[in-house]
Amino acid sequence: MAWRFALVIDPAASDDPRTDFAETFRVIDASAPALSVGELSTQRGDGIFESVGVVDGHAQELIAHLDRLAHSAALCDLPVPHREQWRQAVEVAAAHCPADGEGVIKLVLSRGIEHGPTPTAWVTAAAAADNSGVREHGIRVVTLDRGYAIDTPARAPWLLLGAKTLSYAVNMAAIREAKRRGADDAIFVSSDGFVLEAPTASLVLRQGDRFVTPAPNGGILHGTTQLSLFEHLADLGHETAYETIPVSALATADAAWLLSSVRLAVPVTAIDGAELPVDGELTASFNRYLLSPRA
Ligand code: PLP
Repeated sequence: MAWRFALVIDPAASDDPRTDFAETFRVIDASAPALSVGELSTQRGDGIFESVGVVDGHAQELIAHLDRLAHSAALCDLPVPHREQWRQAVEVAAAHCPADGEGVIKLVLSRGIEHGPTPTAWVTAAAAADNSGVREHGIRVVTLDRGYAIDTPARAPWLLLGAKTLSYAVNMAAIREAKRRGADDAIFVSSDGFVLEAPTASLVLRQGDRFVTPAPNGGILHGTTQLSLFEHLADLGHETAYETIPVSALATADAAWLLSSVRLAVPVTAIDGAELPVDGELTASFNRYLLSPRA
C-alpha cells in the first residue's frame, strides 16, 4: 500500500483538558523511515491498531473504532487513548484520503521504545485497494483450527484474544495456508468445534430470515462493520443474533459474508469446497449501505 500521509502523535493523558490537539501532531514523510530500532511495536508486535475505512473523505464508523482502540488499550495495559486527540488526528488524515472514492486510515498505538518515557502513536492515510471485484464475485474460504477452545479467552486473558494487537503474524500465516489449500481466505474455528472469525474479518451467516455472527466473548474481535450491518438489518426488521455457532452450522447456512472496514461485505462462495448460494442483490445492498456516510 502506498501511504500518502503520516502523522506522529504525542499521546496526551486521557484527562488532558485541551480542546485543540494540533500542536501534538507532527506530519512526517510517509515514505521515509520513521521509527527507532528500539520500538517495541516492530520488535515484539507490542501495540494496538485500527484500520478505518474512508469513503469520499469521510472516516466511517469512527465512534466504534475509537471505542475498540480504548478497549484494546485496556486489555494490553496501555495508557487510555485521549479520544478527542485521536479523533482530530483522524480528521487531519481523512483530508489526505481521496476526496472521491475509498481510502484507509490506520491508527497505531505502540508501547514505544524499550524503557522509553511514553508510547509511540501515529496515524497514516492511503487510497484503498479496489475491492469492487471481490465484493461482487466473492471468495472461497477454508476452515482452519485456531488452536484454542471457545472458553480460552475467559481462562487466559493474557492471550489478549479480544484486542486488536499488532501481532498479526498468525493471521497472515492463516491466509497463506488458505491460499495453499486453493482458497482465498480462512475462517478460524476453535479447537472444540465452534466458528470464530476470519483472520482479518468478521463472519455473518444467514439462516433463513435471521442473521447470526459468533459472540465476541469467544476470543474474537467485535467487528465495527458487522456491528453496523446488524443495526442496518435490525432497522429493516430482520432478526440478528450473537451466538456460539458450531462448525456444523456452516454447511447448512443459506449464505455467508466476511465483513471488514475496508473490504466491506464479501460473499462467501464456498466453504471447504462446498459451494454456498450467493445473493448478489442482497450483498450489493449491504455494500451500498456500508459505503454510505456512517458516524
Ligand atoms: N476480526 C479480525 C481478526 C480483524 O482483523 C478484523 C479487521 O481487521 C475484523 C474482525 C473486522 O473488524 P472491522 O469490521 O472493525 O474492520
